[in-house]
Amino acid sequence: MDVAKEKELREAELMVEKNVIVTSIDKVLNWARGHSFWPVTFGLACCAIEMMATGGPRYDIARFGWEVFRASPRQADLMIVAGTCTRKMAPLLRRIYDQMPEPKWVIAMGSCSSSGGPFVDSYSMFGGVDKIVPVDVYIPGCPPRPESLLFGIMQLQQKVANPAKVRLLKHGE
Ligand code: SF4
Repeated sequence: MDVAKEKELREAELMVEKNVIVTSIDKVLNWARGHSFWPVTFGLACCAIEMMATGGPRYDIARFGWEVFRASPRQADLMIVAGTCTRKMAPLLRRIYDQMPEPKWVIAMGSCSSSGGPFVDSYSMFGGVDKIVPVDVYIPGCPPRPESLLFGIMQLQQKVANPAKVRLLKHGE
């Protein structure tokens, strides 16, 4: 091959590298899902105040694309359990989760929803919500600040974007 032809070929290759992206539909879908969570409007106690603050102008959850809090679980794909889950509330929480369409994710926000928190010994306390719904991310704190919630949702975003990696971590490989 002469030099001119080789140069032409190299230029064509460079143009393809710069202008063409090859990926899978799953990757694109997961990328979009991670950048457009629709959380269900659902708060149980004091942690919910921090969740509401996250939606305000100071923390501006909208810059991440996660601000569309839905009043109906049928339109939501993310449940942020913000607050204390009592025994009385537990079946209702599960029902709301069941009404959400797939794929869906759960964040346990604060020590109450993660493990029972300061009320763990109370007769009415249910404990960690992972007994009734599959929790994807736990956010520690009593209450966690809005920055913690944003960080927690970013962790979920990573999890949604890299399901294979998460599977490997789960099996300790
Ligand atoms: S973790 Fe603390 S702030 Fe959050 S609901 Fe429980 S007691 Fe309230």
